[in-house]
Amino acid sequence: MTESNDVLIVGGSIAGVRTAEGLRRHGFDGRVTILEAGPDLPYDRPALSKQVLAAGHSTESVMLRTQADLDKARIELRRGCRAAGLDLDAGTVRLAGGGTLAYSNLVIATGAAPRRLATAPAGAGVHYLRTLADAERLREAIDGPVRVVVVGGGFIGSEVAAAAAARSASVTVVEPYAFPLSRVLGDLVGKRLARLHESQGVQLVLGRSVSAIGADRAGGQRVVLDDGTTLGCEAVVVGIGAVPATDWLAGSGLDVADGVVCDEFCRASAPGVFAVGDVARWPNPLFAEAMRVEHWTNAVEQAGVVAWNIAHPDRPRPYAPVPYVWSDQYGSRLQIVGRPRPSDDVRVVLDDDGFVALYVRDHELVGAFGLNAPSQVLALRRALAARTRLDGITL
Ligand SMILES: Cc1cc2nc3c(=O)[nH]c(=O)nc-3n(C[C@H](O)[C@H](O)[C@H](O)COP(=O)(O)OP(=O)(O)OC[C@H]3O[C@@H](n4cnc5c(N)ncnc54)[C@H](O)[C@@H]3O)c2cc1C
Repeated sequence: MTESNDVLIVGGSIAGVRTAEGLRRHGFDGRVTILEAGPDLPYDRPALSKQVLAAGHSTESVMLRTQADLDKARIELRRGCRAAGLDLDAGTVRLAGGGTLAYSNLVIATGAAPRRLATAPAGAGVHYLRTLADAERLREAIDGPVRVVVVGGGFIGSEVAAAAAARSASVTVVEPYAFPLSRVLGDLVGKRLARLHESQGVQLVLGRSVSAIGADRAGGQRVVLDDGTTLGCEAVVVGIGAVPATDWLAGSGLDVADGVVCDEFCRASAPGVFAVGDVARWPNPLFAEAMRVEHWTNAVEQAGVVAWNIAHPDRPRPYAPVPYVWSDQYGSRLQIVGRPRPSDDVRVVLDDDGFVALYVRDHELVGAFGLNAPSQVLALRRALAARTRLDGITL
């Protein structure tokens, strides 16, 4: 017999758990079940490239909820339970281990998985970072005066570089763009971030990509770059972005295009189906742009809206956030708000103890970057939400 659930949530990380809790907060009394493919209770992914890689961390410190917390909220979490297919006509989810579960409402919260480098499958000496198990393996690998090559100078690559350098590894970052994060933030800010890495002894190889990775005879790794340079090391960490985890939806008929396609209320293309977090693509009314945001704050804020819209289908709320992300590197806090692009007019408005750059498009503020400037970034997030005119902004 197919078991029935009022709300079935697939994915038991921050977006899935916050949706379940939001349902209870909004007075939803029905049966709420979360399916999670991994073995763990929910944990905090941002900590994986920060606290978990530092010496002396405890796994407990990254757990988001205990079993008792979930029980208290009457949320059933099934761990080690992978969704393998979706039948929209029947309103059921097929499980990898066999069996199906029926839903009245389905929430897709399956997040994203690391983009793989074709030449570098995960294995001895080659690391990707998404799960607690990945982070614990990597922590072992950077313990001691080892050589680490980080492929990709984005958020995760940069945080791993910082964590490895703090543990006395000798670190090289290979980045195809002119500077770290310049693909998102442009060269002016990217150059500033390059200085941050180099001030801590991390070597940057910029404007180069990796053409091959292989084991050497001494048990280490050889990373071959597109100009023929070879970098020897004991550990390679690949951080080249993530792809939405939608493979299990193939053939279901649900609209999927670089994420689950939703409307502004986070409703997917079939009745009763929602998406939330890294996996969801929706038209953000505030920016008149369809977006998919792979950041923690988005998962939390979107979960609140999805929960409300399930609990109050007659009064749905649009989801119109100002995207926000933070990153911790070398003891500095980086923050980005809004939708900056490298092609924007980038204006540095503070360059003192902290650094702030505004991103201006068609004479309007569209985003901002801050380095050790949390109060200014908060003010700018508010200004973006209120669509404050550029000349009305004071920091
Ligand atoms: C190392 C690291 C550091 C980060 N640091 C920051 C940071 O500093 N700041 C920031 O804003 N963001 C950061 N992020 C991003 C942030 O963690 C994500 O945006 C957030 O975790 C998204 O939550 P989610 O619940 O949507 O997806 P996920 O956290 O990816 O969770 C999805 C869950 O679904 C499960 N799942 C997938 N497929 C299935 C299936 N078929 N069946 C059942 N379960 C399934 C997965 O096992 C996973 O637990 C970081 C991410 C990583 C990996």
